[in-house]
Amino acid sequence: MKILKFGGSSVANLENIRKVFAIIQKQIKKEEIAVVFSALGGVTEILLQSAQKAKEGDRSYIDEVKILEDRHFELVRQLIPIQSQSTVLTYVKVRFNELDDLFHGVYLIKECSAKTLDYVASFGERLSAFILAEALKIEELPAVFVDARDLVRTNNRFGNAKVDFFTTNDLIADYFHSHPGLKIITGFIGSTEKGETTTLGRSGSDYTAAIFASALNADSLEIWTDVSGVLTSDPRLVYSAFTIPQLTYNEAMELSHFGAKVIFPATMQPAMRKGIPIYIKNTFDPENPGTLISNESGNGKLIKGISSMSGISLLNIQGAGLIEVVGVSRRVFGSLADAGINVILISQASSEHSICIAIKTTEVIAAKESIEKEFLYEIKNGEMDPVLVVSEMAVVAAVGENMKHNPGASGRMFQALGRNNVNVFAIAQGSSELNISAVVSQADLQKALNALHEAFFLSDNKVLHVFLVGVGLIGKTLIRMIAQQRKKLMQENDLDIQIHGIANSRYMAFDEDGFDLANCPLPQDAKGAKPMDIKKFVAQMEEMNFSNSVFVDCTASQDVADVYEQVLEAKVALVTPNKKANSGSLETYKGLKKLAYKRGVKFLYETNVAAGLPVISTLQDLMLCGDKVLRIEAVLSGSMNFIFSELEKGTPFSEVVKQAKEKGYTEPDPRDDLSGMDVGRKILILGREAEQDLQFEDIQIQSMVPADCVDAQSVEEFMAKLPAHDAEFAHLLAEAKSKGEKLRFMATLENGKAMVGLRSIDSSHPFYTLKGSDNMILFTTERYHDFPMIIRGPGAGADVTAAGVFADVIRLGNFSR
Ligand code: ADP
Ligand code: ASP
Ligand code: MG
Repeated sequence: MKILKFGGSSVANLENIRKVFAIIQKQIKKEEIAVVFSALGGVTEILLQSAQKAKEGDRSYIDEVKILEDRHFELVRQLIPIQSQSTVLTYVKVRFNELDDLFHGVYLIKECSAKTLDYVASFGERLSAFILAEALKIEELPAVFVDARDLVRTNNRFGNAKVDFFTTNDLIADYFHSHPGLKIITGFIGSTEKGETTTLGRSGSDYTAAIFASALNADSLEIWTDVSGVLTSDPRLVYSAFTIPQLTYNEAMELSHFGAKVIFPATMQPAMRKGIPIYIKNTFDPENPGTLISNESGNGKLIKGISSMSGISLLNIQGAGLIEVVGVSRRVFGSLADAGINVILISQASSEHSICIAIKTTEVIAAKESIEKEFLYEIKNGEMDPVLVVSEMAVVAAVGENMKHNPGASGRMFQALGRNNVNVFAIAQGSSELNISAVVSQADLQKALNALHEAFFLSDNKVLHVFLVGVGLIGKTLIRMIAQQRKKLMQENDLDIQIHGIANSRYMAFDEDGFDLANCPLPQDAKGAKPMDIKKFVAQMEEMNFSNSVFVDCTASQDVADVYEQVLEAKVALVTPNKKANSGSLETYKGLKKLAYKRGVKFLYETNVAAGLPVISTLQDLMLCGDKVLRIEAVLSGSMNFIFSELEKGTPFSEVVKQAKEKGYTEPDPRDDLSGMDVGRKILILGREAEQDLQFEDIQIQSMVPADCVDAQSVEEFMAKLPAHDAEFAHLLAEAKSKGEKLRFMATLENGKAMVGLRSIDSSHPFYTLKGSDNMILFTTERYHDFPMIIRGPGAGADVTAAGVFADVIRLGNFSR
């Protein structure tokens, strides 16, 4: 004998019911079965809500009930041929007449007891099972409708009745013994000795099925639902959740108690007593093996699943008068029990100064009142504070038998939460070590679940959630590179990169699922595009609250640099080629580094100097290993190099600058390059990385061009003034040439002094051979003393810069494993 139970989603409509019937037809050929049905999907909820409305005098319940009636009639017409419809239609009509009377009564007396609610709710299962039994008869199966109220005997705790197994088991066994046929049983409902209708708790049809399985010593119990078994986490909150092939009864109970809605917690008890295996199967994917719940634990994973409960509040009971006073806990929990309040989690530190209790938010007022009444005297005397309530909380729980005697689970759990900026308000682990629970704020719940899911199940597959500001040349190239490389990164490095936010100076747009990178829209063309506001961009990023978020700034904007602090404060990693922050005040530079360290996130800016060349990371490595920088010499401007190589060909200076500008080798205003300011900022950053406390003002910058040019009112005026200096440059060049030297615009740092300016160098200097737009950096250190360490290569351009930013992003993926 096997018991099959189909949930509300499996029988929500005709299409689904056809699938259910196919499963029944297939199974009945193999062995004896009995079937338990829930109400049609959503019906119980509407019945209960309608009762509430009637009680409140809201007549819209009438329409709601009418819609329900029509839905059932429609189903009868769809499932059963006209000539056989009358008995079923009559049954349905009579039930709805009863319901109408019932609701009208509730409406008139404005009262609806738990007992009445149970009776109201029972119509859902009675209707569905009756209609489906009749429809199965049409399918030529010997279906017999069974109203579980005749067989499942319970106490009178309405809404959540306790089963009297002693009587129930006999009633079920006798009934099955004396009634042949395919029993079609109403889930969820039972009755008291006096014949009053009761329910076993919301979602209780699973339990009904287990009660029958146990009473009949069934070989197995199958719970058919709309997902392929118990998943590692709630699939509505964790998209990457997957089926857990095997669970013990205890694990399943723990997961479901803590919110895994897929199976009703009490279901496990009767099955466990008899050792009956429970299979959780998917009506819409019947071949999927789903989950087996038995005494076997299956694989050796540290934890099996992560579940959660929302709508939680914390009560903090604290005060100096509680320390080492015997009986405080008894009084706290006694008063809660008296008020009928269920305690979900308790945590007390050994100082005994405070007790922290998690309960459902709906019960918070009653709980606070009840405890404060109990401790009236202590509160009055100041020995205890009034009960402090923190609402909008949720509980996350990691569950698995393998945590027993296996260190590491809580470490991994709290590391994952901490790394993702999820604050933990309370922690509890029972000595059974089956479950570690943490209370977090409701706003952090989804992030917490995903971070835990990743830490325990997908540690081989990390997802970085990128928010990109600046989609100009570099930003766009970066998106293209990620799109091209993504598959390989996933396959070979278990790293996925998704972009959830994009912005330019005018627009910003977000995508929960991540933009399609191969066809990534510009911010203004994306769905839901909004005017850009960097503060709002960051706020939205924080609100989306992904684990492993990364803020990438591909702008050159000060406004964007101004939000770095907020970004790091939110524990979001930061990657940027934008030099503004690091070349700002020394306090800003140091503050950001310190903040990143404090918040445990990375702030990477390899591309601040010489694009993708590994200059900053190399310097950081040297410093980390205890080396000391004695001198840095660097050519850090590609545009200046172009200018010199053209000058050497004999082209006048003014002409060369014009060409460089036209070819896009300089900034739109060539003075940004020629004034030496840009190089100054770069050597400033290198100096700071070499642990020198430099401000920008400390850097001696000799402009390439005379003051009158720099001070020109416009770019045009500047360009017009240049020819007057052609002779000067020609002279400088000739002078250098006569000594066998070349001109270079370089930056040096030595003895704490940084300088930027034009130098004439001889052929023994490494810079002598520099060509094109190459950058070159020489580090002379205590360890690289006789010969400097040299880094050379293209130090500008969208491709190499974007590649450098990309490499920093990938580095983040490796750091946070
Ligand atoms: P039924 O109508 O079949 O009784 P339920 O709606 O009661 O189905 O339960 C199935 C739903 O439970 C799934 O659709 C899923 O959204 C939700 N769920 C929550 N947590 C989990 C989990 N850990 N594994 C599987 N499903 C879960
Ligand atoms: N129909 C009931 C409910 O919605 C019982 C069940 O579906 O298991 O709670
Ligand atoms: Mg259910």
